[in-house]
Amino acid sequence: MRLGVDVGGTKIEVVVLGDDGAERMRRRTFYPSREYAPALDCLVDSIRAAEAQCAQCTVGIGMPGFVDPESGLLENAFNTPYNRRPLKGDLEARLGKEVRFANDANCFALSEAVDGAARGARVVFGAILGTGAGGGIVVGGRVVEGRHGTAGEWGHTPLPWMTEDEYPGPPCTCGRTGCIEQFVSGPAKNRERDAIGEEAAMARFVDRLARAFAMMINILDPDVIVVGGGMSKHDEIYTEVGPLLPRYAYHPEPRTPIVRAAHGDASGVRGAAMLWSI
Ligand SMILES: [Zn+2]
Repeated sequence: MRLGVDVGGTKIEVVVLGDDGAERMRRRTFYPSREYAPALDCLVDSIRAAEAQCAQCTVGIGMPGFVDPESGLLENAFNTPYNRRPLKGDLEARLGKEVRFANDANCFALSEAVDGAARGARVVFGAILGTGAGGGIVVGGRVVEGRHGTAGEWGHTPLPWMTEDEYPGPPCTCGRTGCIEQFVSGPAKNRERDAIGEEAAMARFVDRLARAFAMMINILDPDVIVVGGGMSKHDEIYTEVGPLLPRYAYHPEPRTPIVRAAHGDASGVRGAAMLWSI
């Protein structure tokens, strides 16, 4: 069986998938403290408790940020107790086996590509629009990690075709300004709504998302774009963004389907388990 863990800002969620992909168990634990050592104990205990109920499992971890392939440190996982720590090495030493790690947006894209809304598509771009704007790329059922483990981090590139009133854009968590995340995330959309009202804010959001997706289509040209996170509930993403793509994409009539995630919030933890099915 395959065990997947979603490492979040306040909690750890564990899921165990059977060989048929069905969920056998799910468990949620809150961190006892923000200190690394007790949070590592908490993660080890959560995995062992799940394994005790489900026999031996492979273990995959989905988390914010990325594991630097050279230093082995978890980077940019700011809201977790594991940031800038050698979590992969420490966890493998404690569990006595290899543990696969992937960014949570990559896990999301993988889950949707394997048996979700992007099932059957060869090249998948997954975008999580929630408190941030994450992105992941799956090709042929495999996560594309990239040289530094940061492939697909679309949210931290500048909003394309910025207008004069958008430039230079709000400051971002990454330390730069004008990142896509600061225009298409939930908090960004809410800021705009409070300033100019829901209707005008939604029109701007849709146009900005069309620009951001057009850039990904120009670079990657995915077979499908699948959208998750809190913002994915807005129907306008699936009805209004597509018709705006010809305005921005290099292809005159891009036909890239933009679809809502099938597994909702469970996609990340499912994808973490699926890191061992590829
Ligand atoms: Zn940024």
